[in-house]
Amino acid sequence: MARPRDDRFELYDLRVEVVAGDRPMVCGHRVGDWFEVRGENLTLPPGQAFSIYALAALLPLLPAKQRPTAATDWMTTDAEIACPDPHCGARFRITRVGTRTFRHSEVTAVPLPPVPRRQTRASSSRGRTR
Ligand SMILES: [Zn+2]
Repeated sequence: MARPRDDRFELYDLRVEVVAGDRPMVCGHRVGDWFEVRGENLTLPPGQAFSIYALAALLPLLPAKQRPTAATDWMTTDAEIACPDPHCGARFRITRVGTRTFRHSEVTAVPLPPVPRRQTRASSSRGRTR
């Protein structure tokens, strides 16, 4: 009988914080405003707002920032996103603040593919032609 497959995986928890750019901010951002992302959930501190337009600019990057990336990948090194308003100098800094473990079976109904059987020396040489 097959053992249950280990279906754990890790994602980074993220913190996104408003930082000053080289020009004045013209939207309602305040330096230090933040939100956090844990798994699929976004958390804001009580009473603090966050621009939906700024959020729209950040959303495509958040799932990529949650996942491990190569040290040489720009997705690893680049962490400041500009406000989509071309007149606004705000930047939003994405920081990986920790890791969290999830289980595939708890986040999707799609089954994992079967684990490929290890090839033995005998089976890997079968069918070879030289
Ligand atoms: Zn702005």
